[in-house]
Amino acid sequence: MQKITIAIDGFSSCGKSTLAKALAQKLGYHYIDTGAMYRAVTWFAYQNGFIKEDGSMDGEAIVAALPVIDIRFAINAETHNSDVYLNDVNVEHEIRSMLVSKLVSKVSTIKEVRHKMVALQRTMGGKKGVVLDGRDIGTHVFPKAELKLFMTADYDIRAKRRLDEYSSKGQYFSLEEVLHSLKERDHEDLTRKENPLIKADDAVILDNSELNREEQLEFVLKLISDLQFISRQEQSHH
Ligand code: C5P
Repeated sequence: MQKITIAIDGFSSCGKSTLAKALAQKLGYHYIDTGAMYRAVTWFAYQNGFIKEDGSMDGEAIVAALPVIDIRFAINAETHNSDVYLNDVNVEHEIRSMLVSKLVSKVSTIKEVRHKMVALQRTMGGKKGVVLDGRDIGTHVFPKAELKLFMTADYDIRAKRRLDEYSSKGQYFSLEEVLHSLKERDHEDLTRKENPLIKADDAVILDNSELNREEQLEFVLKLISDLQFISRQEQSHH
């Protein structure tokens, strides 16, 4: 089967990365978690005092530091996950914290940060046979992706899933706190100037409020096989 580019965008905590990983595994594709890249930049900024817990940020200092921020992915031999490395240090654990979740959308509004991440994403995902998840993949990073999904789910369900994820890692918050943080992040992502979160015209909406993981995977695999069928038909007509 012809390899394609799959772009998955949508709101926070809708299970984009879970679906993206499952698809990549099933299809033998590469998976690029673009949110992890913005999270790694945020962790760098926090560690260096360029953004504080209260959200106050020195954007110019972050921009000035961009040349020394190296972000890459490498397969973790134990978990087989593709972990993110910031200047050769595995920061997978740090970037999933509530602190980074709270600050990341702010750092992601910085134009120069986005330019650097998008350039990296285009280089890493340049070959077909790749699944990327994020906010601007189908609209901006790979607007010609053959398959674009836009994921959404009810707020309560998303907050509950995120809460479970935190508590499985020994981090405890109230449902209200998680819900508030999700809403703030969505708001920031939807309203920023540079490549905000919007559904691409040709993206398929996937509301997974009532779908389990297998059902979501099945739904997307069906879309892919329909795509392949259409492209074979088009080829035979030419
Ligand atoms: O997907 P994840 O929740 O890890 O993304 C973290 C944050 O990074 C998002 O809330 C958004 O602010 C930013 N992001 C982005 N563009 C992307 C991916 C993530 O602005 N392509």
